[in-house]
Amino acid sequence: MKPLALFGGTFDPVHLGHLSVAWEAAELLDAEVRLLPASIPPHRQPPIASAAQRVAILRAALQDQSRLSLDTRELDREGPSFTVDTLTGLRAEQGTRPLVLLIGADAFANLASWDRWRELFEVAHIGVLSRPGVSSILPPELEQAVTGRRVTTADALRDQPAGKVIELAVTPLEISATRIRELLAAGRDPRYLLPCGVFDDPALLAPYRQ
Ligand code: ATP
Repeated sequence: MKPLALFGGTFDPVHLGHLSVAWEAAELLDAEVRLLPASIPPHRQPPIASAAQRVAILRAALQDQSRLSLDTRELDREGPSFTVDTLTGLRAEQGTRPLVLLIGADAFANLASWDRWRELFEVAHIGVLSRPGVSSILPPELEQAVTGRRVTTADALRDQPAGKVIELAVTPLEISATRIRELLAAGRDPRYLLPCGVFDDPALLAPYRQ
């Protein structure tokens, strides 16, 4: 069974930087990758687009390909979700299928600040998205938790449903949703930073234009 990998974010809006790393992770793991848009906690800056608008953009972005899909469970629930709870829900649904939480190397270095972070290893593998050739030093507490979990081949994730850590060297593009929002608000047309299915439907980007 192909592993199921989860790539979370605000996706306000989703852009080619997200899609290209998600795609490369799908290839490297030979996995289904689901984009998992997050609800935003009340104390954080709210996204410009509503949850429904972000989902419409994601749907348009994910047309016509087979590796990446959308999972709206965090938006369908009341209030923001902790990652460990989302993964526990997926684990209950997916039986023994390997689950992989995809996290950028910077975010991974801060994993020990996440709610119930040690439980993450019980429900999923972790795929650390890193730039080729750039190694990140982990804080000692996290390094200790990761020791013995590291694997270097995607096949090693298929032997068990959770608990391993794999580094995935992907090609990050210098694209951010913040920059895209700025360009759209300034009346610019960042056509080649966004998937064409999104750019070709002006209604999808209208929330960012005003
Ligand atoms: P914002 O600019 O609004 O903070 P963002 O572009 O960083 O947004 P998020 O939705 O916050 O996008 O990111 C979701 C995930 O995608 C995060 O793990 C983030 O690190 C990663 N990510 C964002 N942009 C890129 C990129 N250009 N290349 C690789 N990963 C990215």
